[in-house]
Amino acid sequence: MFKKVITPFQTVLLQKRLCVGCTASLDKAKRLGKLSERRELIECKCKRRYVYSKEFNEYQRATFQEEQQFLRELNKRPLL
Ligand SMILES: [Zn+2]
Repeated sequence: MFKKVITPFQTVLLQKRLCVGCTASLDKAKRLGKLSERRELIECKCKRRYVYSKEFNEYQRATFQEEQQFLRELNKRPLL
């Protein structure tokens, strides 16, 4: 039941380009890097991670798979 109540609220916040946890503007969130040509992983100051879709110009919660994919990409190249 709890999930049914909270989900539309989170959707509204994301449509307004706000973090669902702390309601900070996601346009100001830190860009962590590209997942693909059209998708960027970003991290809010509260450490929640999102995916920005250039195609749709919107934010989504990053899935566990997307975070793992990003971490694998990071490990491939040396951090200079
Ligand atoms: Zn936040």
